[in-house]
Amino acid sequence: MRTEILRNVYNVIYQNILKHKKGVVWILALVVTAVILIVYQANIFNRFELLTLDYRFNVRHNRPGHADIVFIDMAEDSINVIGRWPWPRKWHAALIKILSPYKPKAIAFDVIFSEPQDEIDDSALAEAIRQAGVVYMPSVYDIEIGNRLTLHEGYGVTAIHEPLERFKAVLKGSGHINAVPDADGILRRVPPVIKFKDNTTYQLGIKIGADLLGVKDEDISFDPVKHSISLKRSDGIIEDVPLDNNNQLIINWIGKWGRDFKHYSYVDVIKSYTSITEGVKPFIDLNVFRDKICVIGLTAAGLIDIKPIPIESAYPAVGTNAMIVSSVLNNDFIKEVPDWVNLLILIVFSISATLVLCDHRLLSGIMITVVSITAYAVFSALLFGIFNIVVVMFYPILAIGLSYIMTASYTQILQSIERVHLFKQATRDGLTQLYNIRHFNLLFEAEFNNASTLKFRALSVIMADIDNFKHANDTYGHQAGDLILQDVANIIQSKCRALDVVGRYGGEEFIIMLSGAKISDAAHLAEKIRVAVEDRKFRIGNIIYTTTISVGVAEYSNESNKGELIEKADKALYYSKKNGKNKVTAYSSEIG
Ligand code: GH3
Ligand code: MG
Ligand code: MG
Repeated sequence: MRTEILRNVYNVIYQNILKHKKGVVWILALVVTAVILIVYQANIFNRFELLTLDYRFNVRHNRPGHADIVFIDMAEDSINVIGRWPWPRKWHAALIKILSPYKPKAIAFDVIFSEPQDEIDDSALAEAIRQAGVVYMPSVYDIEIGNRLTLHEGYGVTAIHEPLERFKAVLKGSGHINAVPDADGILRRVPPVIKFKDNTTYQLGIKIGADLLGVKDEDISFDPVKHSISLKRSDGIIEDVPLDNNNQLIINWIGKWGRDFKHYSYVDVIKSYTSITEGVKPFIDLNVFRDKICVIGLTAAGLIDIKPIPIESAYPAVGTNAMIVSSVLNNDFIKEVPDWVNLLILIVFSISATLVLCDHRLLSGIMITVVSITAYAVFSALLFGIFNIVVVMFYPILAIGLSYIMTASYTQILQSIERVHLFKQATRDGLTQLYNIRHFNLLFEAEFNNASTLKFRALSVIMADIDNFKHANDTYGHQAGDLILQDVANIIQSKCRALDVVGRYGGEEFIIMLSGAKISDAAHLAEKIRVAVEDRKFRIGNIIYTTTISVGVAEYSNESNKGELIEKADKALYYSKKNGKNKVTAYSSEIG
């Protein structure tokens, strides 16, 4: 009974899959799409997505930074000469004074000057700043961990460390230098603007860049909805600083720290000045600072704020500001496509990959998957390398992979279902679902050989024939006859054990192979079947019809072939028919 239900369920599913093949594929496509969109929205593979951004940085060509940017590094050599950090501020005052005659466009410190030190030094520094008129100093905020996306709204900021008032009053400008790495510790973005109480502070690099473009403070505006900062120049032209979808500025890492920028040593600058005053040829021709943007920061090991960035494992924080200044001046920003574009890419990829892959075999499917993943990786790298545009990269690749897995599994399942179905079609009788005579003979032959070689293994056969079946057909029609046949077949099958092999031997004749059963067991089973058929009330329309079967049973005993054994069972059956039908006869030599 249970196997019958399972068989029906199986048939219904199989027929429906066959009938709605295209529909099933679409369901698969929608499942893939839904999974990918959920995973994307939940940011589950964020780290991998971030790594794809690094990959794009690494495979693109280095691009020129702004030619005016030079670094003045406070490295070990300077520490050796000047002494332990923090240095007396008279040194910074001196540096500014040395640089000033060369009219640098900006002198930007990546050092916090929020606490007073020596009064004389502080006033000397303030005076130097005032005279130079191009000095920038940073402010830095205390930020609660995990709140970087709300910094522009003022949430998550607990304190500000600004330059001293006396410096602030004479600075050209100031900006924040907070940089928050991503979850994997790699620095990729900065908050472009931080709000704290009445303070709104743009990132230092943005501020310097804006100044150099001739943008007044009041003409810098941040639009969190458009994800951009617009810089309105004095000539009316508006420069746009594009932000990512979380209003962060993706830093455009244009080159490696040591290799792609000009660096000068802080102490060398000061020494060169002394040489000049002494009439000796200086180590550095200070003209290299003429009209330049001088970015001054700590690079001495142990003192500096070093972070990994996409293109380098250790990068001094001061470089970040220079990178941003360069981006603003060259109008060279990394742009992220709007999120709806990313969603569209994911939907299109999930659906099209599934629809394409479902028509392919395992191997060609793998090839298409690999080729399309590679193609997309190249495409997004080119989009980045040529246009600075960031599209979602990991998730579409995931979509292709998932589509492959889904379609390959689906194809496999479908194929095995088809194989099972074909096997059934080849081995079963269409009306009763019992084994057809050809397949029964095959199984019987194998078992007969077993029994005849193994000797000790019993083998019995039951043959049954419906009594007066012609009459049923003639009275109620062929279709009713078919139903009775099916019903009798079901009765027989349900009385047999799972390992008994039941076949339809002819029109209304059945044969059962009972492996390991002696004739008495077989006769017992035959009798059970006979009674079950006799008791069954077949419903044909409004009429209740009953029928009976005649049965013959035989057991293997040294027959030379299976035909002989079947013949014995057939003789026993014939005996039942002759003696009034509705009987079970076990073969014995008297019958033969
Ligand atoms: P007996 O008691 O001696 O076995 O008489 P019977 O009428 O059952 O035997 P007979 O061999 O004369 O007739 C068998 C009938 O079974 C003839 C045939 O029309 C019918 N038959 C054979 N196969 C099918 C079938 O698949 N469907 C239907 N409805 N009838 C079938
Ligand atoms: Mg018959
Ligand atoms: Mg017959």
